[in-house]
Amino acid sequence: MTMVCAVCGKRGARVRRATRTCGNGKTFLLIEGVPVVRCSRCGESYLTAQTLREIERIKQDRRRLARRRVVPVARFGGMA
Ligand SMILES: [Zn+2]
Repeated sequence: MTMVCAVCGKRGARVRRATRTCGNGKTFLLIEGVPVVRCSRCGESYLTAQTLREIERIKQDRRRLARRRVVPVARFGGMA
């Protein structure tokens, strides 16, 4: 199901789930399953205002919502 793109106004945008990171060091947080709108017409990808609000809410409530997990981290082109 496609929806109208907020950038170009044409129908052709789809929602995909992606992993986003925010902050760094002690404030670093990785959020899985973030709905990202990607438009096949103009190639733009963006988050809706509602998604951004939800991300803010998750960041505010990270102590309760986040789980610690050990993950391998690599840096493109070199050492992590
Ligand atoms: Zn578009």
